[in-house]
Amino acid sequence: MIRSPEELKPVLEALRADLLENVESLKDTLALDGTGYTNHQADDATQAFDQAKDLAIRTSSEKRLQLVEDALAKFEAGTYGRCDNCGQEIDLARLEAIPYTPLCMACAEAREYLRR
Ligand SMILES: [Zn+2]
Repeated sequence: MIRSPEELKPVLEALRADLLENVESLKDTLALDGTGYTNHQADDATQAFDQAKDLAIRTSSEKRLQLVEDALAKFEAGTYGRCDNCGQEIDLARLEAIPYTPLCMACAEAREYLRR
């Protein structure tokens, strides 16, 4: 259990490094595959499936990377740990579980509810 949000800065920095590596390596994979059609139908189908999967992973990695970058920017601004929506301090246990979350539990739940 952490005692202050400050303790999460190195966690976020490590996470950013991991995600950057992830996004970069998937970018390379996609670039290499390109429009590489083969003479074998089955191979094309498999390749298209793999590309779609890679793209999905990459998109979610990029989204998470953006949240991590935002969280690190908030450390600089001194606003880390505050909810983007209501300005309340985010529960430490929640931050420890999801260090890059921009929302407190109540706002995150309200958003999930609205999305339905
Ligand atoms: Zn909130």
